[in-house]
Amino acid sequence: MSCCKCKEHHWRDPQPTTYSDEAGQEYCLFHAPTEHKGMSVEDFNVQVFARIDAIKGRNTSEGKNENCYLSGTVFPGDISFWMYDENNPLPEISFYQATFGGSALFWETTFGSKADFSKATFSDVAEFVSTSFNNESNFSRATFIGRVEFGSATFCNAASFWKTTFNAPTDFSSATFHGEVDFGEATFEGEAGFGGATFSYETNFVEGRFNGEAYFGEAIFGGVSYFQGAMFGGKADFRKTKFAEETYFSEAWFSSEAQFRAIKANNKALRLHYLSSASLANLAFTSMETESFSFKGCDWPERLWPEAQNKPDYKACEELYRSLKQKAANEHDQPMVSKWHYREKLMALEQIQAAHGWPAQVSLTGVYYWCSGFGEDPSQAFRVLVILVVCALLALCGFKLWETGISGQVAWDKVLEIPVELLMLVPFTKSPTTNTLLGGLLGPTKALVTSLLHIVFAVQIALFAFALRNRFRR
Ligand SMILES: [Zn+2]
Repeated sequence: MSCCKCKEHHWRDPQPTTYSDEAGQEYCLFHAPTEHKGMSVEDFNVQVFARIDAIKGRNTSEGKNENCYLSGTVFPGDISFWMYDENNPLPEISFYQATFGGSALFWETTFGSKADFSKATFSDVAEFVSTSFNNESNFSRATFIGRVEFGSATFCNAASFWKTTFNAPTDFSSATFHGEVDFGEATFEGEAGFGGATFSYETNFVEGRFNGEAYFGEAIFGGVSYFQGAMFGGKADFRKTKFAEETYFSEAWFSSEAQFRAIKANNKALRLHYLSSASLANLAFTSMETESFSFKGCDWPERLWPEAQNKPDYKACEELYRSLKQKAANEHDQPMVSKWHYREKLMALEQIQAAHGWPAQVSLTGVYYWCSGFGEDPSQAFRVLVILVVCALLALCGFKLWETGISGQVAWDKVLEIPVELLMLVPFTKSPTTNTLLGGLLGPTKALVTSLLHIVFAVQIALFAFALRNRFRR
């Protein structure tokens, strides 16, 4: 009988068997479980290198491009492929469903042709630092249990990490991807570092799961990139990242701070569509980046990230809201113009408050806020109008009492004058010339109060009308 695994993985050269299990299944040296290799890790590794070198030799002498099958191989301990550098590159090689029991070290290794690591399991550290993949590389559905290092690696062709699971911190900093990159549905349990990485072509992170921090600072996305439905469970950092083409973040989820400050992107290049209120509340950007975003179908929170900080920079917040208002106006999105206008003015008021304390509330901006919600809140304007009417009513009652003096008798003629005089306070109502002139101190006082109320009523009615018009127009 031949090795069951050589058969399963379609090895062209089934290996002699060295071990059979209790069920009678036979295994060759490469496929035997770790504890049944019958030799040291070093000796086993020598066998692996001999197999690779034999294929390389045959390929060279016969001018072939034969694949080195190591699929399903069980590597019992640490192994380093350092000798396969640019001068001695690995042939096309398959580590499909292989298991690396120790560290897998591919430091500065060169894969001269295709490299298949799909469904492989890396039980310990996996080092691909400065590794060159000269052709396609496939790590889809692989599982990395230990730390993963792809720092400064070069992928000359398509690279797939589709549904790959990274269980520990993963580093792709300064890696260069020259072909399509697929990290779709990949899961990063630890930190994911892509700082300074270059993605020259289409990049896919659709439905990627970043359960630790995700760092993309100073990365370059040269082609269209897709982050739809990606979930960022920890902080996401895209500071100084360059997006040369459109990048789609539709329905992405940011559960912690998501930094987009100092990004470089064209107008509306970053499509943040259909984001939840909680995700948008975590977006950290300034007025400088506003134009780079496109927001559609977004459910906006009350306050944006810069305002929700412990000690917000109200000036920066005001500028941010103003830029968003301008953007909404350009896109004829009137309800958002209204929302951002309100926040912008509120930030201006906060600045006055920070400089002058409570008197800010009676400043022009403060009064504008209280009387009509910066011209955006008709119900507030109406409430204030009602309060003014009540005050005027009380004042008129006071004057009447002053005129008649307090007595047990109700002077009904005076009481009936109150609604008439109240109506006269409303601007543009014609005052009857038969108004009784009062002598003494009461005359000028009443005249003064009446005039003041006239102005106040006029202003408040105008504010109410303005807020109402804003509400209906937007
Ligand atoms: Zn075998």
